[in-house]
Amino acid sequence: MPLSPARPQARYACPMRFLIFLLCMGPVGAQTIGIDSHIDTVQRVLIEQANLAERSPRGHVDLPRLKAGGVNAPFFALWVPTYYHGSEAIRRTLDLRDAMQRLFDMHPELIAPALNAADVERITRSGRVAAILTLEGGHQIDDDLAVLRMYYQLGIRSMTLTHFRNTDWADSSTDKPAHNGLTDFGRQVVREMNRLGMIVDLSHVSDKTFYDALEVSTKPVILSHSSCRALSDVPRNATDDMLRALAKNGGVIGINFGEGFLNPKDAEMLKADIAAVATEPSLTGKALDAYAAEEFRKDLVARPTFGTLDDAVAHIDHAVKVAGIDHVGIGSDFDGISSPPKGLEDVSKMPALRAALKAKGYRDEDIRKISGANTLRVLREVTGK
Ligand SMILES: [Zn+2]
Repeated sequence: MPLSPARPQARYACPMRFLIFLLCMGPVGAQTIGIDSHIDTVQRVLIEQANLAERSPRGHVDLPRLKAGGVNAPFFALWVPTYYHGSEAIRRTLDLRDAMQRLFDMHPELIAPALNAADVERITRSGRVAAILTLEGGHQIDDDLAVLRMYYQLGIRSMTLTHFRNTDWADSSTDKPAHNGLTDFGRQVVREMNRLGMIVDLSHVSDKTFYDALEVSTKPVILSHSSCRALSDVPRNATDDMLRALAKNGGVIGINFGEGFLNPKDAEMLKADIAAVATEPSLTGKALDAYAAEEFRKDLVARPTFGTLDDAVAHIDHAVKVAGIDHVGIGSDFDGISSPPKGLEDVSKMPALRAALKAKGYRDEDIRKISGANTLRVLREVTGK
């Protein structure tokens, strides 16, 4: 059954009641679109065969909880761990893309892929979830622009240039610098993404890669899931100078709710995770997939943490003060983090964040921008419609 009627007017047989319904909806196009620029739920769909159509006690996101949280257009990250190399990373990306396709095919009345901002508006207006598909890790293109172009054909509209490790063409914020930022090929990747209409996502990259990419990009970029280094000093967060440069570019930062990103008391734990030497399994195919499934389960074991909803509000507020109200959004990292902040235990709790912003003095229009309008603007500018 659809989460809400596809044709709401069908319920209003009386024209006067339908008119009242329209007046309550506000001006055409003024619907609130809630965007989260990074969730890791695709992992659960592929690895655990999670049925997102039903509310689950597991994880942080499913379609009923997205609806309850007012997040109707999430970016679903097709994340591939960096121990998938070369063609194995491409195979894994296709498996994740297929897992989302099965969801789209099974529940067209609940969710559909969005290729641009106009699609987001059309799909959410019908009461469905608009899924924006993204890649998390430049290694997934296997140093080949043709692969990038075919991902675009598969409906993918954003890519982080790296994940936790450097690619052959870009330095990561959590690896030893190898390229002093972006290589010439890395610059070509940014130009090709601009040309295609894919959002360049600079979460995970080193500071130098961030500035190099900004220099090349002719379109707004995003930090899909990062927070503020001034409040929690970890390399995955953005400095104030980066926030100002992002604003100048017209881009948006999606505030990350992960442990260590928000509360400095958790930062040491995140730094220890970053410093831990990753084991690289010498496996391929199904054996590698089984290893990835085991690692995914281990990563999601909850740990005692200090982050709270108030911390998330503080990061949003700081980013707004430094970058401006038009350059801040939400990038929770739900289903990719083990211990969400108290008060924001899953995506259904997002109204509490909006209420806290309101209590802090944010106007409805400001909250609408942070909740999704800013990121939607970037999607429109990059995809062209
Ligand atoms: Zn990430």
